[in-house]
Amino acid sequence: MEPLATQQLHDLVRDAERAISEAPDINALEALRVRYLGKKGVLTDQLKRIGSLAADQRPAFGQAVNIAKDAVAQSIEARRDALHKAAMQQQLVRDHLDVTLPGRGAGIGGLHPITRTLERLTDIFLRMGFEVADGPEIEDDFHNFEALNIPPDHPARAMHDTFYVERGGLLRTHTSPVQIRYMLENPPPFRVIAPGRVYRCDSDMTHTPMFHQIEGLAVAEKVSFADLKGVLIHFLQQFFETSLEVRLRPSYFPFTEPSAEVDISCVFCEGNGCRVCKQSGWLEVLGCGMVHPRVFQHAGVDPERYSGYAFGLGVERMGMLRYGVDDIRLYFDNDLRFLEQF
Ligand SMILES: [Zn+2]
Repeated sequence: MEPLATQQLHDLVRDAERAISEAPDINALEALRVRYLGKKGVLTDQLKRIGSLAADQRPAFGQAVNIAKDAVAQSIEARRDALHKAAMQQQLVRDHLDVTLPGRGAGIGGLHPITRTLERLTDIFLRMGFEVADGPEIEDDFHNFEALNIPPDHPARAMHDTFYVERGGLLRTHTSPVQIRYMLENPPPFRVIAPGRVYRCDSDMTHTPMFHQIEGLAVAEKVSFADLKGVLIHFLQQFFETSLEVRLRPSYFPFTEPSAEVDISCVFCEGNGCRVCKQSGWLEVLGCGMVHPRVFQHAGVDPERYSGYAFGLGVERMGMLRYGVDDIRLYFDNDLRFLEQF
């Protein structure tokens, strides 16, 4: 290539500046830089041609090429700046954070359905004049079985699937031992309920190894079965908020005599028969009876002077019937979709 004439240099610079100003990105710009200013670039090549000129033309030509190089270099720098700014602007738009958007908000949580059921049950009995009594979850054989008229060879023990712990202790299989503890320390008359956790080695759709019971105990002179029936009917109608039918069936428990199981007319089909009540129209909800004289003797209460009634119910089952929960394990799965419904 011959050394370029001044006009040709001008044209070259003009073409270069147009291409540079239109370079779409940094890579394209770099390619242009190499093409014009690189080691084998067009303008670099022109400087190498300087030797082929007459000596008196060399200074002017060299100066003209250097001016052209500077012009192209400046254009490239300007375009590089512009591309950088554009890229930054794009990133700002992409990462834009609208601080005026409403926040996602923290869930405020709620009471577990078992807690709700427990509070609801307890509240009804408190309004009827009962007080709340408490006892340990790790019990001994005396309070959990023997004092409740369940001696070591009693077949009822087999039904309890007991968890035993060290040194003869056991996890209480029902809340009934609270009866014994309360009577040993408090002279009649009294009305107490004992809500709490109980444990049995059992697990299926309607049983879990840990569940909750509420025990009721009322002892005074001349307490009758009619008192028990009145309290239970009132309680059940309050709990289910409907004037349902209540039926008592004779039953057997070692710690009460006579004993009964209490059914309510099915809250799902109103007694017409459905899957939940197995077409019977009735649902079994609790067990009850008059305190056995032998239990009174173990607990230091004079059975000649006092009489009393006791009842026990499963909190999970009551909640299942009240809220239509069909699998007890849902209570313990910690699935928020289930828990948030309450
Ligand atoms: Zn039914």
